[in-house]
Amino acid sequence: MEHKFVLGIDVGSTTSKCIILKDGQVLASAVVAHGAGTSGPARAKAEVLEKAGIAPGQISHTIATGYGRNHEEGSSGNKSELTCHALAVAHLFPNARTVIDIGGQDAKVMRLNDKGRMVNFVMNDKCAAGTGRFMDVMARVLEMRVSQLEAAGNLATNRVDISSTCTVFAETEVVSHLANARNVNDIVAGIHRSVAVRVAGLAKRAGVEPQLVMSGGVALNGGVVHALENELGVAIQVMPQPQLAGALGAALFANQL
Ligand code: ADP
Repeated sequence: MEHKFVLGIDVGSTTSKCIILKDGQVLASAVVAHGAGTSGPARAKAEVLEKAGIAPGQISHTIATGYGRNHEEGSSGNKSELTCHALAVAHLFPNARTVIDIGGQDAKVMRLNDKGRMVNFVMNDKCAAGTGRFMDVMARVLEMRVSQLEAAGNLATNRVDISSTCTVFAETEVVSHLANARNVNDIVAGIHRSVAVRVAGLAKRAGVEPQLVMSGGVALNGGVVHALENELGVAIQVMPQPQLAGALGAALFANQL
């Protein structure tokens, strides 16, 4: 029997992600830390094809999503990030009714109905606070990688309050806490809470109904996830490989063609 291979590509603001499905099942994935307008999308495609062990000509359909989706040549079409995240979440969590996606430069909250269709959403794409960018800026100031923040926050004993919501002022605040020799782990816990407060405000505007699922790169940081659970008083399920949710949704759309 001929197998059906399809590709989903999510050209994000900071990261390019690809997934190949073979007969509807995930065969391979790739994440490259360069986004729209860079070599990232082409590298992610080359990497996922190599991992899958197939040639480009074997892909029957490609759907692009993400910030740079309109510039993705060779695609069969493109879909918004919102519909892709919703489809991917509903595929893995049929009982999901709310999705929080925190990416590199925006945060989105989507409400799904019992058929997995998006019925409402709210979004912050105007301000870096409450997005991955905020985490990236803070990690740089603390001389850490974003992947190290969760472990640092877990060691906090006396969380520092970050009072500024603006990323630029919050950065100044963190610098002054460091200068005053405040414990770095306590500062990290404050940063996690700051993002959580911001995103919780957005989520409350959309209305939060369980089951609540998180997608997007920031969900890799369990410190932010737990802080958000505390702010909302609702348990959160995290998508497996949350950064790949958009690419998975795009691949699922491609598989329907
Ligand atoms: P986009 O699609 O806009 O490029 P992503 O959903 O890929 O965004 O999320 C990117 C963000 O995820 C980065 O800004 C970063 O803050 C965060 N991130 C990426 N990798 C990790 C990691 N290993 N641990 C924690 N956070 C991460």
